[in-house]
Amino acid sequence: MHPVTSYIGLGSNLAKPDQQLQEALRAIHELKDTHVTQCSSFYASKPMGPQDQPDYVNAVVEIATKLSAEDLLSQLQAIEQTHGRQRKSERWGPRTLDLDIILYGNEQIQSNDLVVPHYGMKTREFVLYPLREIAPELVLPCGDSLVSVLKSVPKNGLEVIRKDVTWK
Ligand code: ATP
Ligand code: CA
Ligand code: CA
Ligand code: CA
Repeated sequence: MHPVTSYIGLGSNLAKPDQQLQEALRAIHELKDTHVTQCSSFYASKPMGPQDQPDYVNAVVEIATKLSAEDLLSQLQAIEQTHGRQRKSERWGPRTLDLDIILYGNEQIQSNDLVVPHYGMKTREFVLYPLREIAPELVLPCGDSLVSVLKSVPKNGLEVIRKDVTWK
């Protein structure tokens, strides 16, 4: 199988979020049949949903992978688990690490446990702005350019907190 370019959204707002993201980045690079090709800056963002929780740190990484989308999801969930992710009933509550598949090549996937492109990507500033940093020319599988989607999404306080992130 030819490697696929995929984009993963990373988020954390507990237990040293900056460090959580840095470790997750390395863990993603270490996955079999997968390597990180680019990483955005780290950003501080406002929480979605419940507001009585800390601000988030977010980033988007570009990977080249020979894993299927389903295998990639289970590998990412395993990384979340080793980072102490606890699934709670509260939607969008605080978490040590969240890894979402934003895009997987140009594929559109709709299964019980995987929807790609990620259903929230077109409205989430903490996905779109980091993604633009590393893939400014990107066109989504629906045909919309990233730049056109971004026009209707304000920054909502999103700010760069770390540049020149490395993963080796
Ligand atoms: P949101 O999905 O709105 O960003 P969340 O990340 O907090 O919220 P989770 O509890 O992490 O949600 O994930 C719920 C389920 O979403 C997972 O069990 C997974 O099967 C499913 N899922 C569907 N599509 C994706 C995707 N593209 N990337 C990651 N998980 C996905
Ligand atoms: Ca690897
Ligand atoms: Ca998420
Ligand atoms: Ca998730």
